Amino acid sequence: MKWHEMRTEEVVEKINSNVKNGLSESEAKNRLLQFGANELQEAERPNAFLVFLEQFKDFMVVVLLAATLISGLLGEYIDAVAIIAIVIINGVLGFFQERKAERSLQALKELSAPQVTVLREREWRKVASREIVAGDVVKFSSGDRIGADMRIVQASSLEIEESALTGESVPAVKRDTPVQGSDISIGDQENMAFMGTLVTRGSGVGIVVATGMNTAMGQIADLLQSAETTITPLQRKLEQLGKILIFVALFLTMLVVILGVIQGHNMYDMFLAGVSLAVAAIPEGLPAIVTVALSLGVQRMIKQKSIVRKLPAVETLGCASVICSDKTGTLTQNKMTVTHAWSGGHTWTVTGNGYDPAGEFIANDAKDPAQNKSLQQLLTFGLICNHANIINKNNQFVLDGDPTEGALLVAAMKAGYTKEGLLQEFAIVKEYPFDSERKMMSMVVEDKQGKLFLITKGAPDVISGVSEFILWEGKKQLYTTKYESIVKDTVHVLASQALRNIAVAFKPLNHFHHTMTEKDVEKELILIGIQGMIDPPRPEVKQAVKECKEAGIKTVMITGDHIVTAKAIATDIGILPMGGKVLEGKELQKMSQEELEEMVDDVYVFARVSPQHKLSIVKALQKKGHIVAMTGDGVNDAPAIKASDIGIAMGITGTDVAKEASSLVLLDDNFATIKSAIKEGRNIYENIRKFIRYLLASNVGEILVMLFAMLLALPLPLVPIQILWVNLVTDGLPAMALGLDQAESNVMKRQPRHPKEGVFARGLWWKIISRGFLIGLVTLIAFIIVYRQHPDELIYAQTVAFATLVMAQLIHVFDCRSERSIFHRNPFQNLYLVGAVISSIILMLIVIYYPPLQAIFHTVSLAPEEWLLIMGLASLPTFLLVGTLFTGKKKKNMV
Ligand code: ATP
Repeated sequence: MKWHEMRTEEVVEKINSNVKNGLSESEAKNRLLQFGANELQEAERPNAFLVFLEQFKDFMVVVLLAATLISGLLGEYIDAVAIIAIVIINGVLGFFQERKAERSLQALKELSAPQVTVLREREWRKVASREIVAGDVVKFSSGDRIGADMRIVQASSLEIEESALTGESVPAVKRDTPVQGSDISIGDQENMAFMGTLVTRGSGVGIVVATGMNTAMGQIADLLQSAETTITPLQRKLEQLGKILIFVALFLTMLVVILGVIQGHNMYDMFLAGVSLAVAAIPEGLPAIVTVALSLGVQRMIKQKSIVRKLPAVETLGCASVICSDKTGTLTQNKMTVTHAWSGGHTWTVTGNGYDPAGEFIANDAKDPAQNKSLQQLLTFGLICNHANIINKNNQFVLDGDPTEGALLVAAMKAGYTKEGLLQEFAIVKEYPFDSERKMMSMVVEDKQGKLFLITKGAPDVISGVSEFILWEGKKQLYTTKYESIVKDTVHVLASQALRNIAVAFKPLNHFHHTMTEKDVEKELILIGIQGMIDPPRPEVKQAVKECKEAGIKTVMITGDHIVTAKAIATDIGILPMGGKVLEGKELQKMSQEELEEMVDDVYVFARVSPQHKLSIVKALQKKGHIVAMTGDGVNDAPAIKASDIGIAMGITGTDVAKEASSLVLLDDNFATIKSAIKEGRNIYENIRKFIRYLLASNVGEILVMLFAMLLALPLPLVPIQILWVNLVTDGLPAMALGLDQAESNVMKRQPRHPKEGVFARGLWWKIISRGFLIGLVTLIAFIIVYRQHPDELIYAQTVAFATLVMAQLIHVFDCRSERSIFHRNPFQNLYLVGAVISSIILMLIVIYYPPLQAIFHTVSLAPEEWLLIMGLASLPTFLLVGTLFTGKKKKNMV
C-alpha cells in the first residue's frame, strides 16, 4: 500500500478506522487476535534442557561424576548412587535459580516496555505498545518513540529522527498532507512515522498502518537482534575471584589428598574424598546466587515503585552521594492550582482546590473581576494557548494534559469560560510548542473577523524580555522600565509564596506565514498579566530528604522554575540549609566548567536552568568525586541522565527517550522513591556480602577440618557423601535466605559506600578466615574427643564431626546478618532464614537417625550428651569472636 500518497480520508477508509472516535476496544482486540501483537520477533531463548545440562559442565562436577562411576564399578553402589543423586539435586536447584533469574529479568523488561497513547472509544488511553493494531489512532509528542508504522494525519511542528532506518541523524520535518511519488524512499515519506523512530520536536497524530514484523523496522529486525546480557561489576569481580578460589581450593584439596596418602590412607578413598571436597569448597554457585539476590532485590524495588533497567545500577545506588532532583512532580505533587491572578496593577485571589472548576475571583482592591477586561483576557488567552482538558468522571475532575496548563484552564473555567466555547471564536492556525529551553509557547489564532493574533505564555522573566507593551488599566502602554520593575516586584511577591508563575502576552499579526519560526514571531509582545499557581510539596519528601542527609547523601534541586519560587520550596522541604548557595541558569551560563566545579559543593538549588545545564552540573559533581543520581523527563534531559552514575527517569511524565537513557525508572515520579531505591541498593549489596561471608567461611571450615586431620595423622573426619550433603543443604538454603534479608536498622545512617571499595572491604576477609578457621577447629575437636572415646567406632566420631560442622555453620548464618554482631539483630526477623535453618536441622536429624539413610550417609544415632558437646563446640566461635569484638572496642575506646 502507498499510504503516503493517499489523502487522510482514503487511509481511514482503507484501514477501516475513525479519526474522531478511534477503534472500539472489541475491534482492537479482534485485530490483535487476527494480526498478532505489535512486536518484533525475538531471538529464541535457550532451550530449558540445555540450561539444565549447563549445570553439569563444571569441571569438578565432571570429575566427581567420573570418580563416582569408578566407585560404582568397584562395588560401592550406595555411595555412587547417593553422590549422583546429590549432584543431580544440585543441578536441579541451579537450574531453577537460573530460570528464576532469567524470568525476573524478562518480567523487568516487560514492565519497562513502552506505552502508547491511543484513541479508543473516543478516549485517549495508554496501552502497551505491543497491543496496538492497524487502524489505531495514536497521539505522540516530543520525546516519544514511535510504536508502529503510521500515516500522520495531524502534525504540529513535528520532527522525527529516523536514523535507525535511514542512517540520517538530522531529524526529518513531518507533515500531514499526501506526498507524491510511488517509489520514494523512507526518508522522503514526509507524512509517515515509522516504528522505532524518535519524535524530537512538536506533536502529532497518526493512524497505524502496519505493526510488528510488517513495519519497516520489522523488515530489518534480524539485523537488530543482539542478545544483551548485562553483568554487574560485582558479578564480574566475583567471577574473577571465583577463578582464584578454584585454584586455592584445588591446591588445598590436593594437599589433603597427598597428606592422606602419605599418612597411609587408601589412595582411592582419598581421591574420592578430595574430589568431593573440591566440589564442596569451590564456590561455583556464587555468581548465580548473586544474580538471584540482585533480581530478588529488584523485585522488592518494583514493589516500592522503582524499576531497575540496568542491573549494575543496583550496586551503584549504594554509592550515590548526590541526588540531583527535578522539582516539579518529583519533589512537588505537580497538582497545580492558580491562586493569584495579576493584571494591570491589580491582584485577584482565586479560591477553590485542585482541578474542580468551582471557585471565584476575589478582588483585593474591590475591582470587579467580571468587569475587568485585562483579567478576562489573561484568563481566556491562558485557556486558548493550552492543550489540557478537564474530564468530569462521576463528579471527579480529572486532568488530561500538563498540570501547569490544567491550572490555567481551571482558572478560566472558574470565570465561566469553556474551551469549546472559546475555540469556536478563535481558530488555531499554528502552534510553537513549549520547550524547557525557551520556557514559553505560542499559538497563532484567527478570530471570527479573520484577524490573526499571536498568543504567548511562559515564564514571566522570559515573556518580559520579549514584550514591548503592557496592558494597563485596559490600555496598551509602552513597556517602560517602570512597568518592568513593577512586574518584577509582583513576580517576586508571588514566588516568595512558593508560587509558580506564568505570564500571558499577545499581539495582533498583520502578516503571517507558516514558514515563520518562533524567533520571527515571539517578539514585541503586549504583556497582559501573570497567573500564580501553587504546587504543594509531596508530603513524604521532607522526611526523605532528611533520611538522605543522614545517609550522607546530598539532595540538590534542579529546576526550570523561578529562583525565588525554587528557594521557597527548597527551604520548606529542607534541601536548602542556612547559608546554602542558589545558582541561576544565567550565572551558570557565564561560568567556566572549572569555576562551576569550584563551587558546586556549596550549591543546593539550581534555578531557571535549561536541560543542557544539567550535563555541566553532573560533570562538575563527578569531577569532585561524587556518585551522582540525576532525574529527568524530557528529550533534552537524556544526555545528563546518561552521563550520570544513576540516571533516573520519570515513569509517568517521562518521555521514552529519557527512559531509554536511564538506569532507573520511578513509577510514581516521586523523590521518596529514589530514597527507597538507594536504601534497597545498599541492602542488596550488604546481603551479597552476607552470603559471601557465610559461604566462604563454610568452605574454609570444610577444607580446614580435613587438612588439620591429615596433618595430625587422623582418620578422615568426614566421608565424601557428608561433605557433599553439607555443600547442598547447609550451605545452599541459608545462603539463599540471606539474600532475602531485611536491611539493618543503620543502613541509612552510614555514609555511602566508596565506589572503589572491594566486596571484602571493612574486615570481611578477616571475618571469613577467622570464622572458617574456628569452624574447622571445633569440628576437629569434636571429632578427636569422640574418636578418643570410641577408637573402634570411627563412624561415631564422623557423625559427631558432621553434626558439629552443620550446627557451627547454622549458628554462623545468624552472625552473618549483621556487620556488628549476632546480638544486634532479632534472629526471628528473617523468616526465610529461620525456615532454611530449621529445614537444614530436620534434614540433618533425618540423615543421622533414619536407619535407611544412616547406611548411605555413614552415620549412627547420637545420644543427648553428644548433642551437648556438639552444641557447646558449635556455638563457641560466635562467643569467641564476639569477645574479640568487645576487647577490640575497649582498646579503641582506651586509645
Ligand atoms: P523542573 O525541572 O523542576 O521540572 P519546571 O517543570 O518548573 O522544573 P520547566 O517545565 O522547564 O521546568 O518550566 C520552566 C518554566 O517555564 C516554568 O517556571 C514556567 O514559568 C514555564 N512553563 C512551564 N510549563 C509551561 C507551559 N506549558 N507553557 C508555558 N510556559 C510554561
